[in-house]
Amino acid sequence: MIEIKNLQKRFDLGKGQLLHAVDGVDLSIEENSIVGLVGESGSGKSTLGKVLVGLHQKSGGDIYYSGERLPDRYCSADYRRLGKDIQMIFQDPYASLNPRMTIEEILVEPLKLQKWGNESSRREKAAAWLERVNLQTSHLGRYPHEFSGGQRQRIGIARALITEPKFVVCDEPISALDVSVQAQVINLLGELQETMGLTLLFIAHDLSMVRYISDVMVVMYLGAVVEKGPADQVFFNPQHPYTQALTKSNPLADPKQERHRQHDMIEGEVPSPVNLPPGCRFAGRCDRAVDRCRKESPALKLVAENQWAACHLVDEYSL
Ligand code: SF4
Repeated sequence: MIEIKNLQKRFDLGKGQLLHAVDGVDLSIEENSIVGLVGESGSGKSTLGKVLVGLHQKSGGDIYYSGERLPDRYCSADYRRLGKDIQMIFQDPYASLNPRMTIEEILVEPLKLQKWGNESSRREKAAAWLERVNLQTSHLGRYPHEFSGGQRQRIGIARALITEPKFVVCDEPISALDVSVQAQVINLLGELQETMGLTLLFIAHDLSMVRYISDVMVVMYLGAVVEKGPADQVFFNPQHPYTQALTKSNPLADPKQERHRQHDMIEGEVPSPVNLPPGCRFAGRCDRAVDRCRKESPALKLVAENQWAACHLVDEYSL
């Protein structure tokens, strides 16, 4: 359904400095599957998601959706046309819902943009979607501040899915929620994915959660994919030293502490995405690095059935 080729996203910081947020990503996403995207903060995973839905313009490379090459720059007609099929669920359910709009207005807005139905059919659909995400139709007249974080995220899910999209980017949809409601939101997403036949890109920092929900796991480091493959395989038998470090210990429940844990448990500083080092980007933090690693950038190679890793020291899989 989605084919990404050599995707680049650079941010101009001025004075000739470029921040390489996404740097040469190739990725295929099969229809009706869930692809989990993991990596530390700053790995480029959220930027990649935003480029896919047109919130950031790509700097280079190609994205194909069902065989159609997506435009380099979206005009308002592109947003309307592609917005029907491609949607996003945002990380922060507090910031992503307009506090001045009622839940009905929030849910009806995407239908209006798509010129779907009339006033009463849109209202009916909004009410039906509230029930589908386990809220009550009597909530339609309320405002976002009257709901808990988990309820708001369910409203965010209803808003993203009300136009019945085919592909949804879920940008860390549970990281701002209490642990007690994370599982409810994950189970709801899994259930909707199955019943609607959705294709999801699920971005998160918690590898065990990604393994639980995803078919395929993709690991990013400093703007590039370093490992990808079937989720169970990557989680239980990681081949890249970076993935091995990420899976080493159990994640902490608190999302902020978890980010620090991931960063602290891998020694050394992450290089600046403004001055990318030559060779393997992980070399400065990798306890297996050899001379070659600092000179030559490793390409992704097949390391097990359907599993790919970018590391000089892993053996190529022979059939
Ligand atoms: Fe470590 Fe070298 Fe592999 Fe990079 S290429 S992950 S530095 S062993």
